[in-house]
Parts: sequence; C-alpha cells; structure tokens
Amino acid sequence: MPLIIITGLPTSGKSTRAAQLHAYLAERIAALPPSPSPPPYRLHLVSDESQDIPRAVYDLSPSQLPAHVRSANASEKDARAALYGAVKRVLSPRDVVVLDGLNYIKGWRYQLFCEAKNARTPSAVLQVGCSQERARAVNEARLRRRDTPTTTEPAPATDTEQDDDDTAEPYAPSNWANLVFRYEEPNPMTRWDSPLFTLIWDDDAHQTRQVFDQLWDVIAGDAKKVVRPNQSTVQRDKDPGGDYLYVLERETQDIVKGILEKQQQGEDGGGEVSLPRSRDEEGAPLVVELPAGKKIGLAQLQRYRRAFVALNRGGIGLEAVGKLAATRLRESFVGYLNDAFDKDG
Ligand code: ADP
Ligand code: MG
Repeated sequence: MPLIIITGLPTSGKSTRAAQLHAYLAERIAALPPSPSPPPYRLHLVSDESQDIPRAVYDLSPSQLPAHVRSANASEKDARAALYGAVKRVLSPRDVVVLDGLNYIKGWRYQLFCEAKNARTPSAVLQVGCSQERARAVNEARLRRRDTPTTTEPAPATDTEQDDDDTAEPYAPSNWANLVFRYEEPNPMTRWDSPLFTLIWDDDAHQTRQVFDQLWDVIAGDAKKVVRPNQSTVQRDKDPGGDYLYVLERETQDIVKGILEKQQQGEDGGGEVSLPRSRDEEGAPLVVELPAGKKIGLAQLQRYRRAFVALNRGGIGLEAVGKLAATRLRESFVGYLNDAFDKDG
C-alpha cells in the first residue's frame, strides 16, 4: 500500500482533502474481504500538525523567526527531515500513508517517490487546486481569528459556521506570499509526480469520491502496479506500457496541461492549439479547436477530462500495446474535447 502525497498552495484546502481521503481509505480498507493470513492494512496521516511543525519554519524572512531558530532555511530542512522520518518509519506494502502538507518542492517529491519505491510500494500525488485569491482569503480569515480577542466576538460557542472550528495556525502574510511564489507545480510527465490526481475547491462529494475511487484503483485495486525497488534509474515508469489507468490519467493530464500552457502563450482566447501526438513528438501534431474568443479554464478542462476518463476506464482494447495505447488515448481525448467545445462553444 502506498504513499499519497498531497500538494497545493498554502491554505488551499489540503488538510480538508487529506481528512476526506483518510476517511475514504479507512472505509475502503474496512470493506476489503476478510482474509485469514495477511494482516489488515494500516492507515497513517502525516502532516506538519502531526509532527508539531509551526508555519514559521517556512518563513524565509529572518525578522519573522523566533530567536532560537538559526536560519529559516535550516528550520525548514529540519522540518522536512522530521516529515521524511515519519513517513519512512511507517511506509511499507501494508501501510497506507497520506502525507498532508505543502510538498511544494519537486526535488522533495522526487525523494518521497524514491522512498516509496524502496519500500516496494506505489506512490501517487493528489494536487489540491484552488485560486490564489481564495487561498489568500482563508489565510487572512485565520489571521483575523488569531488577532481578534475572543471577548469581542459574539458568543463564539453558539456559532454554527464551518469556519468556527478552524483553529489552524495562519501563515504570516509575507510567508504565505513567498510560499505561493516558490510553489513548484506537479508535472504529470515526470515519474515522481505520476500518477497525478486533482481536486479543486468546488469539487462536490460525488466528484471527490470518483477521484478517490480512481486513486484507490491505481494504488490498491486491479490496476495496481508491481513496484520493484531501486529501479528508478532504469526509468521503468517512462514506459507507456505500464498499467492502463495510469496511462489514461497521465496522457489526459498532459493534454490538459498542454492546452493551458498554449492558452497562456496566446494573447487572446480561442483559435487552434497544436499538441504533440505522442510524448516523443512522433507523428503530426494533434489540433485542439478552442471555442472562439474565450479561454478555457483548468476547472472546465478537468471536468471534461474526468468525464473522458470515466468513459474510458474500461479500456479501449489496446491496453497491451504500450505506446500505441498512449497515442490512441491522446487522439481520442483531443477528439472528445473538440466535440465538447463544438457543442458548448
Ligand atoms: P490547508 O491544509 O491547505 O492549509 P485547510 O484544509 O486547512 O487548508 O482549509 C482551509 C479552510 O478552508 C478551512 O476552514 C476549511 O474548512 C476550508 N475549506 C477547505 N477546502 C474547502 C472546500 N473544498 N470547500 C469549502 N471549504 C473548504
Ligand atoms: Mg493543512
């Protein structure tokens, strides 16, 4: 059983999703058919909170640091070492570890990926997508809550709003902004950020469950990969002949990423964007026809992507043929998007 690395901007809803995932996994594990010999899976949630790591360790401005902390960078390294140790202690083929945290450095995610491989267990990344504005508003609310003496608040105990039990520590504003600036987006084309799953703030319970179901399939279900230790240099994971659901996730994520990047390069919305037909750039490019005059956002693209993934989870009959399956999936997804844009646009 695997390591699930949660990543996202500060105060973007990571711990909320981590708690939901934890509850979901507990339910799936409890529902496994009883078997006499192998002991049941164990579930762990590792986070800054579980390791007593304060937000200030991420702060690079010396003035924000308590006097006993040597330098900001050193304290963050210590924090990472503590998290690494906590993961390493429990990670094994029968332990599911959810690592809730910023996990914003790609080199750090790479290390965790290698650690999972060494423990012969799969890893996956769950990105919590949230606009900067919304994430900032969450942090500002937490700062206000911390800075407002409770005596001036009207009867806090009787309030029913969800945010009232939000006692999480805020980030200092400069620390928050700096973390957003330093954030290294996961890239589903790299081994260590794959398979990559995404949940956005507005994803409802149904959508969330679908994503968790896909995650479960890849890490523990029929699509689970055989993990061999110390093979990371052989780049086995670059082989698109890997398991089908994994390729399905990866290729569709890659197309979404490509469209977003191309849109960012173009000045105005609409028009055609071309994307590589295969990952090694063989074959004529695929052409996506965007609706005229508007940009398609991440949320909308992810909705289409998930619908396509849901349609194609059963396979397209080419799973066995490796690279061809990946290319076919890309072609098929682009065709699906063009149809969708045509209808909606
Ligand atoms: P992080 O762990 O990234 O700092 P949290 O999970 O602690 O973020 O969430 C911050 C705040 O936002 C909490 O008050 C939480 O209740 C709220 N929140 C998080 N995700 C959502 C969501 N998808 N929809 C509504 N509120 C959310
Ligand atoms: Mg958190």
